[in-house]
Amino acid sequence: MSQAKHLIEQHDDNIAWAKGLLVRTGAVTKCEHHEELTDNYDPEAVEEAIKLAKKASARDLIADHAAELVREAVLDIGDECSGCAAWERD
Ligand SMILES: [Zn+2]
Repeated sequence: MSQAKHLIEQHDDNIAWAKGLLVRTGAVTKCEHHEELTDNYDPEAVEEAIKLAKKASARDLIADHAAELVREAVLDIGDECSGCAAWERD
């Protein structure tokens, strides 16, 4: 595996971890039908997830990098589940 590919996979893995923290603090909700995450627009819950991320030394991340991952993960999450939106259109 090339080094670049490896880094991308590691990043995806870290983003998935950050999303898990966001779910835990209630910043985002997982759709019960589609497993897709939706944004709750709760800045306090996002801050809480960032705090958790900074404390998570187990993943060997620099605190600032961990915080950045959480912010990046939030940007990746929409305000509606695309699966549910498709249902509503039909
Ligand atoms: Zn859904």
